[in-house]
Amino acid sequence: MDHIQEQIQSLRDELSQHNYNYYVLDNATISDYEFDIKLKELEKLEEAHPQFFDPNSPTQRVGGQITKNFETVTHKNRMYSLDNSYSKEDLLDWEKRIQKILGTTDIEYTCELKYDGASINLTYENGKFIKAVTRGDGFQGDNVTTNIRTIKSIPLNLNSDFVNDFEMRGEIILPLDGFQKMNEERVANGEEAYRNPRNTASGSLKLQDSAEVAKRPLDCLLYQVVTDERKYKTHYESLEAARNIGFKVPKTIELASSIDAVFDFVNAWDSKRNELPYETDGVVIKVNNLQQQEELGYTSKAPRWAIAYKFKAEQVATVLNEITYQVGRTGAITPVANLEPVQLAGTIVKRASLHNADQIEKLDIRVNDTVFVEKGGEIIPKIIAVDFNKRPKESTPTQYATHCPECNTELIRTDGDAKHYCPNEFGCAPQITGRVQHFISRKAMDIDGLGGETVDLLRKEGLIQNYADLYDLKVEQIIPLERMAEKSAQNMIAGIEKSKEIPFKKVLFALGIRFVGETVAKKLAKHFKSIENLMAADFETLIAVDEIGDRIAQSIIDFSNDLGNIQLVNRLKSYGVQLEVSAESIENQTDKLQGNAFVVSGVFHQMSRNELKKAIEDNGGKVSSSISKKTSYVVAGDNMGPSKLAKAESLGIPIISEDEFIEMIS
Ligand code: AMP
Ligand code: ZN
Repeated sequence: MDHIQEQIQSLRDELSQHNYNYYVLDNATISDYEFDIKLKELEKLEEAHPQFFDPNSPTQRVGGQITKNFETVTHKNRMYSLDNSYSKEDLLDWEKRIQKILGTTDIEYTCELKYDGASINLTYENGKFIKAVTRGDGFQGDNVTTNIRTIKSIPLNLNSDFVNDFEMRGEIILPLDGFQKMNEERVANGEEAYRNPRNTASGSLKLQDSAEVAKRPLDCLLYQVVTDERKYKTHYESLEAARNIGFKVPKTIELASSIDAVFDFVNAWDSKRNELPYETDGVVIKVNNLQQQEELGYTSKAPRWAIAYKFKAEQVATVLNEITYQVGRTGAITPVANLEPVQLAGTIVKRASLHNADQIEKLDIRVNDTVFVEKGGEIIPKIIAVDFNKRPKESTPTQYATHCPECNTELIRTDGDAKHYCPNEFGCAPQITGRVQHFISRKAMDIDGLGGETVDLLRKEGLIQNYADLYDLKVEQIIPLERMAEKSAQNMIAGIEKSKEIPFKKVLFALGIRFVGETVAKKLAKHFKSIENLMAADFETLIAVDEIGDRIAQSIIDFSNDLGNIQLVNRLKSYGVQLEVSAESIENQTDKLQGNAFVVSGVFHQMSRNELKKAIEDNGGKVSSSISKKTSYVVAGDNMGPSKLAKAESLGIPIISEDEFIEMIS
C-alpha cells in the first residue's frame, strides 16, 4: 500500500472507532474539536487523492448528495409485518399454535422492545455496507442508501469476523431528546413543530438532500440478522454477535423460557418504557432457535415464529364538534369526527375516524358528546366510547348523511356492506381524482412527473375526467397551468407515455376495480392473460380461480358490464397500454406444476430459496410454508428441520431434492 493510502486508511479507521464509541457506546473518547480536526485532515487527503475515494469513508457521513427519485428495489428477502397480540391469552394461544407445529413444548423465546420508527434493511457484503432500503410494501422498498449513510451509529466497515453476506434489519428512530431539540430550533425559526418522532424519522428517510438528513439526530436500532449462512444457532446469539462487531443492538433484549416469563418482561416494560430515551409501542416475542424459526415459517403476512405484544393504547376524553363525510376513490363514504383538539400520546388530535354508520349507531355517538379517543397502532385515532354522563340534554341521535357531500347524489348501501357509497362514479369529483391518483400510483402505472395534486388540478381545469384522458393530454395544454413550466409539462407527458410499457398485471390493478388489489390483480392476470378474457369470464369461471371469491367475482362482472368502463378500457387499448400479458413473460412460465403445492425447506446450492419459490410459482405451482395433507411435494435442501421431515414422512408426502425439482420443470 502506498504511504498516502495508508495514512488515509488509518485516519478512516480511527474516526470510525470514535464514531462507534460516541454513537453506539455512548462513550466519547475524543473531543469534538479534535475529531473535527482529524476529519478535515482526512477530507483534504481524500480531495488531493481522489483515486482512494470510498463511499464508506467517515467523510461521507455529512451527506450532500441529492436524490430526486428514490430507486425502487426488490427485497432479496421479504420484509414481513408482525401479528399483534393484546393479552396474555393471545400469547398463550400463539404458544399453543407453534407448539403444535413444532411438535414440542421445548421452546425458548426472546423478548425485545418494539422500537417505534421506520423499518430499514441494511445489506452488507464482505464486511462492507452496500445499501439501505425501506420496507415499502414488504416486497419492494426505496433505496435510501445515501441518507442512511449519514446515521453515524450504523457501521459502514466491519472489521471482525461475522457472516459474510447478510442483511441487518432495524428501525430508524428519532430519540426523544433529539426530537425535542429539533422542534425547539424549528419553533425558534418560526417553523411549525413536528408532530411526533416516528413520522419525523420516517419522513427523514425520503428527504432529497442527504446533508439535511445528516443534521437530524437519527439513530438505528437493530433487531434481526438475515443470512443463509448457518453460523449461529439462535436469534439471541446472532444479535449478540452483531452487537460485538459494532451494531447498535439494544441491551434490553432478554431470553424467556415460558410465556409467564415473557409476560414478566411485558409488565416490567409497560411501566418502565416512559424512562427510555426513545418511543416503544410494545414488545416483540420471537422463537429463539433459528432451526425452529425455519420450521414455523410464515403466513401470507407475518412470521409464525414472532408476535408483537401491543401496550395498551393511551386514551383521552374530548368533545365531538362535528361529523363530516369523506368520499374515497371508490365512492366509499367515511364519516369523520372533528374533535376539540387534544393532546394524545405525544400528538395533537383533531380528527378521528368513525368507520361507518353502524359504528356510530352502535356507540350512539352524537355531536357535542364528550367522547373517549384512543390511539392504537394506526395513525388515525378512533373513538371508543361516549361519556353519557356528560351528554347535553337537548341531544338527538345522529342522522347519517343521505346524500354525497361532494356531488349531492343519493348514497346507496348494499346488503352485507358496512359502508355507504356514492354511485356517481364518473361524475363525483373526489372519485374522479381518486381513481386517477390510484391509476398513476407507484404500484399501479407508476407515472413519474405527475403527482396527486396535479391530478386534481387537471380535473378542475376540465382537462381530465378519467384515467384514459391522461393519454390525450398535450404539452401545450399543461404549460399554462399554475406552477407548470415547459420542462415539467414535458416530463409529465413523457411519464404518461412511458406507462404504456407497464405490464398487464399492474395495469389491471390500476383500473381500480373494487376488491381487485395488487395480489388479486396478479392472480387474475396470470390466469386470464388478457383483459378481454377477464371481462368475458362469467361468475363460475371467475370463482373457479384459486383465491377468487364471490365478492371479487361479482365486482369484476359489475365492472365488465358497465358501458363507461368498457369504453375506458377500449380507449386504453387504442393508446397502446398493456392489456395482455406480454410474450416474453409467458415464455418463462409453464403450467407444469399446476395443482401442486410445495413446501421448501433447508439450504440450496443451485438457486436461492427465493429463486426456487419463484420457479415454483412461474410454473403454476403453489408455495406454502407448512406441511399438511394438501402438500404435494417437499423440496428439501441441506439441514431440513427434523420435525418437518418427520411430518412429511408421517403424511407420506414425497420429499424431493433440488436436482429432482429442477428436473421436474426443465
Ligand atoms: P407492524 O408494522 O406493526 O407490522 O410491525 C412490524 C414492524 O415492527 C417491523 O417492520 C419492524 O420495523 C418493527 N419492529 C420494531 N421493533 C422490532 C423488533 N424488536 N423486532 C422486530 N420488528 C420490530
Ligand atoms: Zn358523490
